Amino acid sequence: MRTGSCQCGSVRFECAARPLELYICHCTECRRQSASAFGISFIVPRDSFRLLSGTPRYWARDADSGGKVECAFCPDCGTRLWHQDAADSRTMAIKGGSLDDPPSLSRSHHIWTKRKLEGVVIPEGARAYPEEP
Ligand SMILES: [Zn+2]
Ligand SMILES: [Zn+2]
Repeated sequence: MRTGSCQCGSVRFECAARPLELYICHCTECRRQSASAFGISFIVPRDSFRLLSGTPRYWARDADSGGKVECAFCPDCGTRLWHQDAADSRTMAIKGGSLDDPPSLSRSHHIWTKRKLEGVVIPEGARAYPEEP
């Protein structure tokens, strides 16, 4: 298992140690969501996830699929923690920077690279897609 938390530490969780997929997403939503250059999605089975402490709040936005993305965050410090698609009960996307032992990004997939910030360099040999594959 891997553990993670928000910035203030009130929301803590554990999840599968190894992701099913690991994405770096350069889309506009992820830039806003992270208030930084890109989002890191550490995709795990939902049944590997367990809340250890705290009570996250949810904000929902429309997904490209037509459904809703439910976005969990800490009500005290505001850190975004994970996203789940209301229509997909099998997996969820933990925001990679919230993990105590963050994953290596050297083998992650880069998506929405056509929206990446100028100066962000995609490592040579990384799988990269201009939009969503
Ligand atoms: Zn917090
Ligand atoms: Zn994105």
